[in-house]
Amino acid sequence: METEWIRNLENEENKPALERAGQILQQGGLVAFPTETVYGLGGDAFNPESSRKIYEAKGRPSDNPLIVHICRISDLEKVARDIPEVAYKLADAYWPGPLTMILSKQPSLPKETTGGLETVAVRMPDHPVALALIDAAGGFVAAPSANTSGRPSPTLGKYVYEDLAGRVDMLLDAGQVGIGVESTIVDLTGDVPMILRPGYVTPEMLEEVLRKVELDPALAAGPLPDHGEKTLPPPKAPGMKYKHYAPKGEVTVLEGDNDKVSKRLLSELDEQLLLGRKCGIIVTEEMEHLLVERGFDLAKISVKHLGREGDLEAMAHGLFQFLREFDDEGVEKIYVKGVDEKGLGLAVMNRLKKAAGGKIIEV
Ligand code: AMP
Ligand code: MG
Repeated sequence: METEWIRNLENEENKPALERAGQILQQGGLVAFPTETVYGLGGDAFNPESSRKIYEAKGRPSDNPLIVHICRISDLEKVARDIPEVAYKLADAYWPGPLTMILSKQPSLPKETTGGLETVAVRMPDHPVALALIDAAGGFVAAPSANTSGRPSPTLGKYVYEDLAGRVDMLLDAGQVGIGVESTIVDLTGDVPMILRPGYVTPEMLEEVLRKVELDPALAAGPLPDHGEKTLPPPKAPGMKYKHYAPKGEVTVLEGDNDKVSKRLLSELDEQLLLGRKCGIIVTEEMEHLLVERGFDLAKISVKHLGREGDLEAMAHGLFQFLREFDDEGVEKIYVKGVDEKGLGLAVMNRLKKAAGGKIIEV
C-alpha cells in the first residue's frame, strides 16, 4: 500500500483530504493523525478488522488495547456503559484534552478494539484535525500512538512516516504536536479512581475534581517486569508492562543535585568518548553552564536543549523528539538528569525510566 502524506492541512486546498480520510476510516482503512499529545494511528473503533490492522501495522501485541477517540461527550454512552457521575465531571473539566478514562465497555464495541477486555479506554482529543477526522469517520476512532511498537511515540509527522510508511493509507501531518507525552489514563471502574498512566493531566489536577485518586502501585515499581520484584502486581494498563519508548542508544538517567550530576556526567562522558562511543545529553541551561564551566567541550557530543530548570513542559514536549534525533545521529550513549516525580514530572519520569530500561543512577 502507498501512504498518502498530506501536509499543510491549514491550506484550503487540503481541506477535502480530511473528508477523504474520514471515508478511508469508514471503509476499514487506517489514517495516522495529529492530536495534542502525540500522533495517533486510527481505525474505525467499531470495525474489528480495522483494529486487527492497527495491531499489525504497529507490530503491537494484540492484548494491548486501543484508546477510542470521540468528538462529542454525548457519544460516550455509545462505547461505555454504567458511566459514573465522576466521568462526566472529568469530561467537563478536561475534555477535549489529554485525559483517557477507563470505563465498562458497551457489548457492541468489538473485543479486538479493547484487547479482549470488558473495559474501554475513551478520550476526546484537543486538536482541530483530530476532532474533524473523528467526526468525518462517524464518531469513533480507535487509535494507539502512531509508532512502531516499542519506539518513542511520534511528535512529528515525519516520524510517523518513518515508522509506518506503506502500512497506513493516509498520514495527516500537522507538524509538531503541542504536549509531547501521551494522555493520562485514569481507571474509573474501581471503588477509587486510579491513574494507570501518568500524563499531562496531573494527579493534582485530577484531585481538583475527584475526592480521591490512587496511583497504580505497579507504576512505582520500575519500568520493566524483569527489573521489578516478582511479588509486585502487573500494571493495570496492559501497555505499561511492555518495553517502551526505547531509542537505539542506551539511556542513563542520573539523579541528584546539579553539582553531583554534572561531575558524574563528565566522568561518564570522558570514559565513553575514550571508548570511541558517540554520546548525547539532554540538558537544562543550568547544567550546560556547569559542564562548560568545568572545561568540557560540548562540541564532542550531541546536546539537546531543554530550556531552564524546572520547565517540565519543555521536557515533555521535547523528550520523544530528542530520543528520535539521537537515533538519527547514531548516538550510542544518552544521558539525562531525572526530575522530581511531582506534577508533570511524574509523566516525564515514567517515560524516561522506561526509555532507560532501568538504568537509573543515584549520584
Ligand atoms: P497508546 O495509545 O499507544 O499509548 O496505548 C494506549 C494505552 O492505553 C496502552 O497503555 C493500553 O494498555 C491502555 N489501555 C487501553 N485500553 C485500556 C483498558 N481498557 N484498560 C486499561 N488500559 C487500557
Ligand atoms: Mg503507545
